[in-house]
Amino acid sequence: MRLGLNMTKYIFITGGVVSSLGKGIIAASLGKLLRARGFSVINQKFDPYINVDPGTMSPFQHGEVFVTDDGAETDLDLGHYERFTDTSLGKFNNVTSGSVYQTVIEKERRGDYLGATVQVIPHITNEIKSRIMGATKQFKPDFQLIEIGGTIGDIESLPFIEAIRQFKTEVGIGNAISVHTTLLPYLPTSGELKTKPSQHSVQVLRSYGIQPEILVCRTTKPIPKTEKEKLALFCSVPKEAVIECRDMKSIYEVPLALEEQNMAGVILDMLRIENRAADLTSWKKLVDNIKNPKGTVKVAIAGKYTKLSDAYISVVESLKHAGYADDVKVEIKWINSEECVDYASCKELMKDVQAVVVPGGFGVRGIEGKLNVIRYARENNVPFLGLCLGMQCAVIEYARNVVGIKDANSKEFDENAQNPVIDLMLEQKNVHGYGGTMRLGAYDCILRKGSKAHKAYGKDKISERHRHRYEVNNEYLKRIEDAGLVFSGMSPDGMLAEIVELPKLDWFVASQFHPEFKSRPEHPHPLFKGLIDAVVTRIK
Ligand code: GLN
Repeated sequence: MRLGLNMTKYIFITGGVVSSLGKGIIAASLGKLLRARGFSVINQKFDPYINVDPGTMSPFQHGEVFVTDDGAETDLDLGHYERFTDTSLGKFNNVTSGSVYQTVIEKERRGDYLGATVQVIPHITNEIKSRIMGATKQFKPDFQLIEIGGTIGDIESLPFIEAIRQFKTEVGIGNAISVHTTLLPYLPTSGELKTKPSQHSVQVLRSYGIQPEILVCRTTKPIPKTEKEKLALFCSVPKEAVIECRDMKSIYEVPLALEEQNMAGVILDMLRIENRAADLTSWKKLVDNIKNPKGTVKVAIAGKYTKLSDAYISVVESLKHAGYADDVKVEIKWINSEECVDYASCKELMKDVQAVVVPGGFGVRGIEGKLNVIRYARENNVPFLGLCLGMQCAVIEYARNVVGIKDANSKEFDENAQNPVIDLMLEQKNVHGYGGTMRLGAYDCILRKGSKAHKAYGKDKISERHRHRYEVNNEYLKRIEDAGLVFSGMSPDGMLAEIVELPKLDWFVASQFHPEFKSRPEHPHPLFKGLIDAVVTRIK
């Protein structure tokens, strides 16, 4: 809903020189700065790849798949947007070339184009523009921030860039601007930050008909005044619109660094909107906490994609958020679950950690190792949090080693399992294909009074985001519960186990849903907070 303006203003964010510049963090930070001024903001991410959504991509390639309340499987940048701007986004906030082409081809098959030759311009570009306007109509934000994935010059992103060019002209001067993010490499031999790659990147952008209004330069060192002036001159932007974005210890410092350079003020001026004072009081307090921790807590994440930390980015951020609230720094120890298949090695790897998370995942690889990690946590009262697959493993481990069902397993790992304590959900049995077919998005869960989960949330009913095909097999529920594992969260119809816990241990809680998608830096998620609290209470 518009809070201040009577029409939406658009900010496009592109990147040049190299990929992985942190455009997502910059887009999220700018969103934060506008929100702090009382404007309503939504962020959108346009991804040039052909997948309809990232749901089918390997985390090794693409990092985490971020799930929204409405069940969209989206790019991990949406996680940054939600965490920085404290909003909940949805399927309109992530657009891929695949989804654009899918719609256009469906329209063509229906005959909607009335015999026309269907082309990139105007049909694909029109569909891209309609995705921008669709989000505007739905959210009516004061500002719509649209980040284009990839690097300027890529063949793939050309239709998006062309759509922006057209869109900027159509909404008119003063209603849309472009922010271009580049890299200033430092050459140790000459001791200089080099501006030439940025100049070339802006030249390429201009060759597509887009003159950026703002330059954000990623750098490891402060940019000397002379170099800023040079960039301004060669790239045709005002001096105050050359913004330095240095590497920071924490991503949450970025909004404050941009605010110091008045980035939002410069943008508001360009869009002819009166600047307002930004209320960043609590964010500053957050950053202060981040910079001055009173101790360190070492938490293991035992998973399969440990070589690429982006695969678990929301889990890592959620752990950090919980640490900020308890004034401690969370240090992550990555444990490759495939290295825990032998219990002795598992013990060795676990001995220096104070808590452990077993995150979500798919497939049988590394499962025995995860079961060992969980057994170690349970037998040694190491605070434990299991997420989705992590909960399913906790149930299997308990069934095998405590209930005594030695061959307890999940049908996901063994289709012929004799004791499938984890089974495919009924509604999944006739599902074909992999794209967008899981149980996805927000569902309610009722908490058992007096349980650890109930205490942590402080309420009876919660709503959390899901992404799974398998569930606890209710035929085994009673036997497992009789042996001590408490099913402290159930779906409202009582048919689906959502949370399990062991009341006697300090923190042994696991959820079928993914709490990591709802943690915010200023509002840590109760289940992550519970995990870190359990460690902090011990060391106090
Ligand atoms: N593979 C499991 C399932 O489909 C768990 C999924 C997950 O951890 N996101 O149910």
